Amino acid sequence: MIGENILQIKKRVSLACARSGTDPSSVVIVAVSKTRTPEEVGEAIEAGIADIGENRVQEAVSKFKALCDARYALRVQWHMVGHLQTNKAKEAVRIFGLIQSVDSLRLAAAIDAQAAAINKVQDVLLEVNVSGEQSKYGFRQQEAAEAAKEISRLQHINIKGLMTVAPIVDIPEKTRPHFRMLKELLNEINEQNELHKLNVLSMGMSDDFEVALEEGATMVRIGRAIFGE
Ligand SMILES: *Cc1c(COP(=O)(O)O)cnc(C)c1O
Repeated sequence: MIGENILQIKKRVSLACARSGTDPSSVVIVAVSKTRTPEEVGEAIEAGIADIGENRVQEAVSKFKALCDARYALRVQWHMVGHLQTNKAKEAVRIFGLIQSVDSLRLAAAIDAQAAAINKVQDVLLEVNVSGEQSKYGFRQQEAAEAAKEISRLQHINIKGLMTVAPIVDIPEKTRPHFRMLKELLNEINEQNELHKLNVLSMGMSDDFEVALEEGATMVRIGRAIFGE
């Protein structure tokens, strides 16, 4: 079931990429496994998934321990996709290859300090609240470029790109303007910042990843369409 779902997702990713002229092999599919068992995550890895997303540090640590034996340790990169509390930064930098949810300067500083302590340069994405919904985490669109500038001065953080969570809507097409805004924001930041280009755009989930790919997503985060409702 999980293996079959992953095959279907890969096909749909390829078709969406064909529409936007993207190379499908450059798209990273992150299987978001919150609330799923280590066995289910193992099944996804066996079916070819190399990127696992979690939204809680504690849950991620226990799955990481269950799965990061010799079989999987080298094959899998772990992604933090949920809001990260500053006091969890220490554990987070120890297991996550990519922290996608950097949403404040304070959190960035905490990650930088914890990464420095273990001699790591932590890859991150800045989360942007493009829809401006009150309930959402993330930098506001107007503050993202300045935040990127400040955070890129930190020695133990490497900003790879931007992430957003689109609003919940009745038809996927309605998310398109939000994805387009994130892409434009990435371009703007890159124009202002000559040296270090950001090239990761993490956007699109089970219901709207095809729209996101058409708008230039390089990374999609998929939970239900892989693991079931
Ligand atoms: C749960 C989650 C996803 C995956 O959502 P689905 O709709 O199940 O595909 C993606 N991104 C974030 C930040 C999430 O919390």
